[in-house]
Amino acid sequence: MTSSGRLPDAPVRVSSVQRFSLHDGPGIRTTVFLQGCPLRCPWCANPETQDCRGGKEMHVAEIMATVLRDADYYRNSGGGVTFSGGEPLLQPRALTALLRECKAAGLHAAVETCGEVPKEDLLAAEPYTDLFLFDIKHCVPAELRNVCKGNLEGILENLRALSASGKVIARIPCIPGFNLDEQTMKGIFDLAVSMGVKEAHLLPYHTYARDKYTQLGRNYDWPGESVRKDALEPFAAMGREAGLTVRIGG
Ligand code: SF4
Repeated sequence: MTSSGRLPDAPVRVSSVQRFSLHDGPGIRTTVFLQGCPLRCPWCANPETQDCRGGKEMHVAEIMATVLRDADYYRNSGGGVTFSGGEPLLQPRALTALLRECKAAGLHAAVETCGEVPKEDLLAAEPYTDLFLFDIKHCVPAELRNVCKGNLEGILENLRALSASGKVIARIPCIPGFNLDEQTMKGIFDLAVSMGVKEAHLLPYHTYARDKYTQLGRNYDWPGESVRKDALEPFAAMGREAGLTVRIGG
């Protein structure tokens, strides 16, 4: 039984629903990957989610029925539900409906966002969200634009507006050849602190998604090998020095 009585009729475009996930927020979680992303990071681990026309159609009630199957696991582990993608806020009405349902069911709800979304959609989702995992990929606008097709100024405006809620953890993908150097990482940490962020997670670059690109008939052209977690320790220390609580891994 859902809470709100009236759920949106329009289907949600979903890439996949992953149960027993351990990397998208605290505890045991179900991660719902929504379809569509405004960015094009060349190392994207979920390239199948980028196209907003892809995925399958599911209704809010159907997604909630799947999510609620593991409610006991969430409660026992301090977990919950994470909405990811792609960019879940590209389907703002559906996302907010899902978040409301989670709240009504007493489930912890997290949203992973690249931040490149209309501010009003982000703020409309905020009251129903317990945690935002907010990407900060770079500190130089031209780099983010050239490599990921992102607009850093707009993203930071959203981050500033959201961080006052105290619900934001910054996620920094650590990508050799893009941001994994002292100057850039220091710039990212300083930026996060100046935006009111208190905690950051460093995500080591990996190449596990290579096969997905082949299946999609695309080339995976980002050079370099996966980064080991311990190679990020010096950067974690740098982030702590900047005033952040820092963890390596998601
Ligand atoms: S923001 Fe995330 S989902 Fe979108 S292209 Fe970049 S890595 Fe992929």
